[in-house]
Amino acid sequence: MDVNEVLDEVLAAAKHHSGQSGGGELAPYLREAVGYDPDSIGIALATVDGDVHGAGAWRDRFSIQSVSKVFTLALALSTSDQVWRQVGREPSGDPFNSFVLLEYENGVPRNPFINAGALAVTDHLLSTLGESSGPVLDLLRAESTSAEVAVDPAITSVEQRHRHRAAALAHVMAEYGTLRQDVDLVLDHYFRQCAITMDCAELALAGLVFARHGARRDGSRLLTASQSKQVNALLLTCGTYDAAGEFAYRVGLPAKSGVSGAILAVVPQRCTVCVWSPRLDAKGNSVAGTAALEAFTSLTGWSVF
Ligand code: GLN
Repeated sequence: MDVNEVLDEVLAAAKHHSGQSGGGELAPYLREAVGYDPDSIGIALATVDGDVHGAGAWRDRFSIQSVSKVFTLALALSTSDQVWRQVGREPSGDPFNSFVLLEYENGVPRNPFINAGALAVTDHLLSTLGESSGPVLDLLRAESTSAEVAVDPAITSVEQRHRHRAAALAHVMAEYGTLRQDVDLVLDHYFRQCAITMDCAELALAGLVFARHGARRDGSRLLTASQSKQVNALLLTCGTYDAAGEFAYRVGLPAKSGVSGAILAVVPQRCTVCVWSPRLDAKGNSVAGTAALEAFTSLTGWSVF
């Protein structure tokens, strides 16, 4: 099977979902900060030995948004498994920015991939390392081998301007004692992590650590094989929020999505696939991106099932 042919075919299959006819809108709050065409679509596949293939807008840059949450979690786990005192491991079944369960569950977020959970993980990193967004950025640069990976200040300031919901979540968690660091500091690092910009190739390369059972590019370990299994399990059950069941049904891969329209999917021991297309469905996942990954696993049979 020729990978480039597969990617071309996948993009062709997803294309009719990438225009207005396929439905979906750009995340409203990002509209003011980004200049890209909402109908863009790009895909990159990185193999475990580091080869990259791409099609469409695979070298266009976008903010990784919630895709950062899996790297933040991996870093936190690599420093201490005490992070599980601050965040749970169950799908929430609620929107990614929801308050509902937080109030019922003593301020402990359901999982690390919803906004409240990522704030808790960021707080944990600040407690253990004294830093969060810096080490996340360093990890992404090292694994993607790209010095161009950076925090976009225009996106950070949009995140800050639209901070009210995230700030409210953080304050509720501080009240319960889940957050231990200064709330504004946690928010600042969280927003910078959301505003890291990458392209599909860089993000696919960075994600390989989860396809290699926790091994980094240089052969050192970020996670043990067991922790990597755990992260992939959480990606499958929680990585696409309250659409994780439908996503697993259609695609069958551990994956993390973000409101910029990025989705990073992991095929353990084989490769990663990163797809980016900005129109989102009602749950905040890329419409064309999900369709592309569904076509990819249908064509290749490379799902975890
Ligand atoms: N910056 C976004 C937010 O905080 C990230 C959420 C997402 O990508 N789903 O709401």
